Amino acid sequence: MVAAVRKWTAVIMRCHVLYVMYSRAGLLETLHSRADPLIRYIAWADRQVVAAFPFSEESLYAFACECEGKCAPSFLKSLMSSISFCFHILGAGSAQEAMNSKRLVGVAKACYLTKRKRFQRPPLTTEMVLRLERLVVSSSGDRVDRFIAGFFLLSVYMRGRYSDTQNMCNIFEDRPSPDPTGLGGYLQADVARSKTAYTTERKTQLLPMVAPRHGLSDEDWFTAWSQVRKDLKVPIGEGKPVLPAILTTGHWAGHPPSASVAAGWLRSLLRKCGFSELQCSRVGTHSCKATCLSWCARFGIDSYDQRVLGFHTAPGDRSAQVYSRDAVSSSVRVLEGVLSRIRKLEFAPDNTRSGYFPTVDDADAGYDVEGSGSEASLDEEEDEADCEQLEIALDSVADDWAEETPKRPLRAEQLVRNRASRMLHVIADESGNVLTCGRACTRNYEKVAAVPSFLYPVCSRCFAVVQRDPEGSPKAAPSQPPEGD
Ligand SMILES: [Zn+2]
Repeated sequence: MVAAVRKWTAVIMRCHVLYVMYSRAGLLETLHSRADPLIRYIAWADRQVVAAFPFSEESLYAFACECEGKCAPSFLKSLMSSISFCFHILGAGSAQEAMNSKRLVGVAKACYLTKRKRFQRPPLTTEMVLRLERLVVSSSGDRVDRFIAGFFLLSVYMRGRYSDTQNMCNIFEDRPSPDPTGLGGYLQADVARSKTAYTTERKTQLLPMVAPRHGLSDEDWFTAWSQVRKDLKVPIGEGKPVLPAILTTGHWAGHPPSASVAAGWLRSLLRKCGFSELQCSRVGTHSCKATCLSWCARFGIDSYDQRVLGFHTAPGDRSAQVYSRDAVSSSVRVLEGVLSRIRKLEFAPDNTRSGYFPTVDDADAGYDVEGSGSEASLDEEEDEADCEQLEIALDSVADDWAEETPKRPLRAEQLVRNRASRMLHVIADESGNVLTCGRACTRNYEKVAAVPSFLYPVCSRCFAVVQRDPEGSPKAAPSQPPEGD
């Protein structure tokens, strides 16, 4: 039986359709994300001693109900996508009943909607944005704080998700001349996003992002931020995150901090700006994306402009248009109008509904900033929390496997996982301060309880060294003084 499955695995690995479709950049991610929910389902079925395949609507429903209370909001939606993938791509006929099951679709939808509501991050208040702008331009402020604050302002005005803001490249100012206020014009950037769609079209999308230079204060926060970025020698370039993680040595890392770590930085900045624990506690990275969008929705701007500003599309919109710089620019001018009304104190979006406009009656802001559209504007902090469930399931379901086979046995004490990327690394020496690939072993890494049988994803540099004969490997640098933590 096992041999037969292995044969089929080999066939599928070479299967032309799958290979051509999914070996392309970005789409490999689709294969992973379609498999992951099924791995968790199989692990659950094994525990219940029921057969995972052929699909049984009843078992899937029982699984879904059990997950509902503890999974990430999008998990059951992903499970439904995986089932449909099995039907359409792998030809699993038993998937059809599950796909058509009203109660299964219902629980997935309900889980998504209710949890999203419960966990929804509140937008930043106008006062929070104002104080962040003032912090970035304050010459007496801590430079790292000023740099981080500017990053979040970029996210606010560009309406970018955390990962979008991290992936921005070619950030530049487009200033008019003459520029009488000193704050005319726009900030522009490109964000490369990989689409996880069944079709191979538009696999990598370059999303143009445009934001007004003039925020809520009359301060030129962007220029101040660019200067601080230069002063702090933050690495800039292709593949470099806009806001890198900070190593214990105080140097910039080559990777971004996880969304949860970044959210912690944002809350800590807000506390330094004078906001209470209570005011900051629910703020997350997604608050930044929601901020301008919620102001615009409350102002009651046209829903088409709202979608363009939020990078959403609705049926009937031509997405090519939504993603063009010209279309974005005209909607950004609408946003400029809203910001100007806030500056003039004619519009107060933080007030309760009846008080938005100090003089005018409230028009209902019906548009759900987070809800509709093609963009999965998921909260990236929640997705991180779900990884562990998958890793546990993988160990019980998948065969022993490693992308890079270690030649000598690994001990659990040697292995650490990056909390954000989940990548496995090997500790270099007894001190435990350095990883074999040269990275510092910071708090961003956690020890593993046992050596996972499914070694994935692994750091190729760490594992390449492990594969070499230990005698032949160069001796590590003189051992560092042991330290706590
Ligand atoms: Zn490594």
